[in-house]
Amino acid sequence: MDFVYEVGDVVRLKKQHPCGSFEWEILRVGADFRLKCSGCGHQIMLPRRQVEKSTKALTKKSAENSKNP
Ligand SMILES: [Zn+2]
Repeated sequence: MDFVYEVGDVVRLKKQHPCGSFEWEILRVGADFRLKCSGCGHQIMLPRRQVEKSTKALTKKSAENSKNP
């Protein structure tokens, strides 16, 4: 499964953050991703490979906007 990760997208990971949230906003992409927890705002750095492995779903920010121009 191939996901295209972009800044502003929200990624749902298999791993749950201690605050109870599964969803992370992407703040930076590259060899390492910077993610912000949508539950508590905590920021982490994760290697791209690890993000790809643990992604369950990806919500595109741009896709929502393009439906309502
Ligand atoms: Zn959290």
